Amino acid sequence: MTLSLDLLKTQFHSIGFNSFARHLEELLRQADQNDWSHLQFVHQMITHELSARQLTRITYNLKRAGFPVRKHLEEFDFSFQTTISKKQIHRLLDFTFVHNRENIVFIGPAGVGKTHLATAIAIKAIDAGFKVLRLSALELVEALDLAESRGTLREKITSLLKFDILYIDELGYLPVNKQSAYNFFQLINALYEYRSLLLTTNKNFTEWHDFFCEDAVAVPIVDRIIHHSHLFILGGDSYRLNQKLHPD
Ligand code: ADP
Ligand code: MG
Repeated sequence: MTLSLDLLKTQFHSIGFNSFARHLEELLRQADQNDWSHLQFVHQMITHELSARQLTRITYNLKRAGFPVRKHLEEFDFSFQTTISKKQIHRLLDFTFVHNRENIVFIGPAGVGKTHLATAIAIKAIDAGFKVLRLSALELVEALDLAESRGTLREKITSLLKFDILYIDELGYLPVNKQSAYNFFQLINALYEYRSLLLTTNKNFTEWHDFFCEDAVAVPIVDRIIHHSHLFILGGDSYRLNQKLHPD
């Protein structure tokens, strides 16, 4: 067997070193130019492949998370939203909350930046290697109800537990019926102390019995969500409204 670049590339592809195979010539050239030792070359090769794989994984996880709009912390104006500090949010970015299976809850009226902050934190978590799934509360309740009617609620909940963070956006805008509330409780119970929840809601916990129909379900749901949680109560004016009123 004669040693050729094409043969090497095929061999690297066959063991899944695709990025390295694609950049083999370039890396060989750099090795020549910089007088890399064999060890240095192997190190460069592995580093190259690992960082390419990490990038692929992050890109995939970002897509799979299902954000309708991507928002970043760098774009958030903390001088407008003063009921929370930059420090409070940045403190979360060591992701001990994920390791400790704690929840993050943003409560506040419309337009104060709940979804922006939650999405931005979720994106940072994906960059740090965690798996996130974002669903609106309505999508989630509908998906759970559908699974329940098909007798597959358990499987549905299990499929949601494979994410490190389940991000539920906009809980509280619509009331849910008794069965939906019970399905939701099943999910919260399964997540409790096992996975992190990132939640935005326009309702205070004291009002949750309104949309969960009854206290019998609302109380244990709230109890499990807030037990290990970072609660952020946002106030102030709506950013959307402010932009409309003062476009500059
Ligand atoms: P909420 O979820 O609280 O209803 P959003 O996070 O969706 O509000 O914010 C509404 C819009 O205003 C979004 O486009 C968001 O990016 C923007 N926004 C809200 N607060 C801020 C802020 N403090 N700095 C920059 N943009 C903001
Ligand atoms: Mg929102």
